[in-house]
Amino acid sequence: MEKTVENPKISRKPGISLSERAVNIDDEVFKLALGLPKDVIPLTAGEPDFPTADFVNLAARRAMDSNFTHYTASNGILPLREAISKKLREDNNLSYDPDEIVVSPGSSPSIFLLLFALADRDDEILIPDPAWFHYPILTGLAGARAVRVPQRKDEGFRLAPEDIEKMVTKRTKVMIVNSPSNPTGHVLSREELEGIAGVAERNNLTIISDEIYEKILYGNNRHISMASLSGMRERTVTVNGLSKGYAMMGWRIGFAASNRELAEKMRSLLGYTVVCPGSVAQHAAIEALTNQRSKEYVRKMVETWTRRRSLVLKYVNEFHDVMSIEPPEGAFYGWIDVSRSGMTGKEVSSGVLREYKVGVMPGHLFGESGRNHIRISYATSDEIVEEGMKRLGRFLRENKKQP
Ligand code: PMP
Repeated sequence: MEKTVENPKISRKPGISLSERAVNIDDEVFKLALGLPKDVIPLTAGEPDFPTADFVNLAARRAMDSNFTHYTASNGILPLREAISKKLREDNNLSYDPDEIVVSPGSSPSIFLLLFALADRDDEILIPDPAWFHYPILTGLAGARAVRVPQRKDEGFRLAPEDIEKMVTKRTKVMIVNSPSNPTGHVLSREELEGIAGVAERNNLTIISDEIYEKILYGNNRHISMASLSGMRERTVTVNGLSKGYAMMGWRIGFAASNRELAEKMRSLLGYTVVCPGSVAQHAAIEALTNQRSKEYVRKMVETWTRRRSLVLKYVNEFHDVMSIEPPEGAFYGWIDVSRSGMTGKEVSSGVLREYKVGVMPGHLFGESGRNHIRISYATSDEIVEEGMKRLGRFLRENKKQP
């Protein structure tokens, strides 16, 4: 039985009462991404199915054996920041000193703390629609406001400068870009990047460029770092991590590169919140970044995902009466339009889970424009992708609503 609180000044419900912030956060995403029952075919989670490379595991073991198991500097140990600085120079044509780089336990906390460090209450953060669901949630948690920018689906999800400019107000402070994109797989071209850069320069915006899928590209698509464009290093924070390109999700290593002033603030924010990235994981990360065998490892992963991407496209084509897709240029997701089935993404996601035991993400979680979409991940196995896609197709046909 609920006891009423005696004190008239207190109107909260008795016992542990949640903050408004917490009440407004739901856990649908995490239930779907990581909490599916064992008998469900998982096309939800965005994690490579490959194990971490054995040479990386060995480096971690060496760190443990030498008792490297204590707190470290909150922005990460210098040899790791040096390895990241070298990586940014070699892979991305970017020049950052180790002092301009902060390491965090995965890139997610980096993005949160960056928003915290860059935006004041009610400042506006531009976020493409659709985009990874963390961005608007983290924006809200940091006290800022998410403003969504449409992407032109009929032009391959192009981010047009005039569409961005329309959303800019006096309060716009930051724009987040993510290429290759989760969920669409779109890779920003040089022309698009230049368009975004122009808007940023005209309106004095900071760009957070999330490049976590940079190594996962298909065909002739190439990754270009926003900060490598002329004049953009000064207004860009480059975010990346080892989760996707090195199959190191559970090690939790991400990083952000900007300037000394922001990096110092980030170091304090990291110190007060996450304290430091895992010490053993940092040694694993140095090995992953510096061992030449990593290149071969990622090549193999991309080769596998290229095959699975073809499988996804094959099945979408086979069931073209109920679904369609813009072929992904990068990352490992299929952003599938289910409007031909007459159902919303939400109806499809809950129906196919209930009736066919297949887990897919409903598109509305990625933004308003995703209402008639679902996102599948093909970073699983060939068998899972085939079986999942067949069941999805069957479900859509059986439940197709007549217009
Ligand atoms: N950015 C994007 C676009 C992602 O999809 C993810 C993971 N799903 C991340 C960042 C975060 O990865 P991590 O925290 O493991 O570095």
